[in-house]
Amino acid sequence: MPEILPGVHQVEGVDPSPDFSTHVYLVKDRGASWTLIDTGLPGASTAILAYLAKVHVEPSSVKKILITHLHRDHTGSLRAMIDKTHARTFAHWIEAAYIALDPKYDGPGTPPAEPVVVDETFKDGDSIDAAGGLIAYHTPGHTPGHSSFYQTERKLLFSGDLFFGEGDRAVLTPPEYTHHIPTAKISARRMARLSIDSVLSYHGGPFLKNGGATIRSLTQKL
Ligand SMILES: [Zn+2]
Repeated sequence: MPEILPGVHQVEGVDPSPDFSTHVYLVKDRGASWTLIDTGLPGASTAILAYLAKVHVEPSSVKKILITHLHRDHTGSLRAMIDKTHARTFAHWIEAAYIALDPKYDGPGTPPAEPVVVDETFKDGDSIDAAGGLIAYHTPGHTPGHSSFYQTERKLLFSGDLFFGEGDRAVLTPPEYTHHIPTAKISARRMARLSIDSVLSYHGGPFLKNGGATIRSLTQKL
């Protein structure tokens, strides 16, 4: 499923195995440029570049790369994609330090494969002129600086690993990959209060219609 919503592509070919989906999103900006949200595992850059070629997007048209959090399945191809696109890179200020391996992350989940110093750090509530205009929300729990991106006009939530998709249900980030479950619950409840049409999750999903209701049916029980 390449273009899942107008201007929103779920990049094909990046899943490491059929049972482990990793949804890298390529999103059209207001102008002619594009934004990549997360980058997949090391080696996923080959599939991302092949996909860009398939949809006739020049790598140099990808002007921004946003990272939801430090884990290797999100940052693994960050260096390779910077080299190919020369895009500006963005992460929450806490996560940026871990992506730079300064300090090394000692929490659950796989740390970055190599250090990358991102160009710009954001904090909760910052606006990012990317993907048609995003608000960055700090949604900690999965990792300390985990963040989600909300596209206000179209009511899209790029939720990173805050929610996982299991069939037609959204579930909370699993404990084995999660820094602090109670904090993740608080973040999930906060996101459920937004007006959301589509939840663009990274593992499983996405929930293109009734995304807000889908996550509220989870958070009501938290
Ligand atoms: Zn993760």
